[in-house]
Amino acid sequence: MTKNLHLNHLSYSGYCNECNKTHSLPPDKAIPHCVELMKRLQAHCRIDFDISIDNANPKLTTQHLYSVSGGQMFGVLVCEDVNGNQIILKAFSSTHNGVWSVEGWVAHLADETKFMAIVNEGNTEIHPLTSYIQTLTKTSEEWNAKIIERKKISQKILSQLLELYEISNFKNQKRNISNAFNIKKGIPNGTGDCCAPKLLNYAAIHNLKPISIAEFYWGKESLSGLRKEGEFYSSCKDKCEPLLGFMLCGLNK
Ligand SMILES: [Zn+2]
Ligand SMILES: [Zn+2]
Repeated sequence: MTKNLHLNHLSYSGYCNECNKTHSLPPDKAIPHCVELMKRLQAHCRIDFDISIDNANPKLTTQHLYSVSGGQMFGVLVCEDVNGNQIILKAFSSTHNGVWSVEGWVAHLADETKFMAIVNEGNTEIHPLTSYIQTLTKTSEEWNAKIIERKKISQKILSQLLELYEISNFKNQKRNISNAFNIKKGIPNGTGDCCAPKLLNYAAIHNLKPISIAEFYWGKESLSGLRKEGEFYSSCKDKCEPLLGFMLCGLNK
């Protein structure tokens, strides 16, 4: 199932602008826990495997990971609590089949209720505008103006959503995503939804010291062929790497 061939290429790191250096976490200790997690996913075909099948949520099966929507990233963070006990945290990326929180898995960075309220309110502006745009002659002056207006509303909604992502690090600093992101360019959609930011933020606010992290892909091979089930992957370059410098700060001096 698992081909642990390329593990020495795995990197979970980011450049910290405050320390002027790269902070990183090694994957070695998290790998066996990931392999255990893969076995459980394979055996139970659902992610709420801690509860009995009678109480299982049908939305939490892994079935949809083999449909057109494709697979998902999973991650494990090995931590130590203040007494030196080992604590194993696990996360799935983004939401699982539309479900935000599942017992036994670390929480999403944003609050679901607030997030959905912003999305729904945004839709009440966007949807009528889209309908109206469809009645206009393409490339007419008004059409152009309305397209720009809609783009501005989308950008406003996105920045409101980003405000919901509060990120803590290991120096007791707290930032929203825009301030934690270490490069000055547009923040990609879905930033903060990967496993690494979820896991590290949980550890930071629960006074746990991360020791090791690893992420793997589960489900149908991605269309690009770049992601295969049971394979490990580094944290992503475009969304996570610019956050990890801030997030890992305070761990290794
Ligand atoms: Zn990522
Ligand atoms: Zn730092």
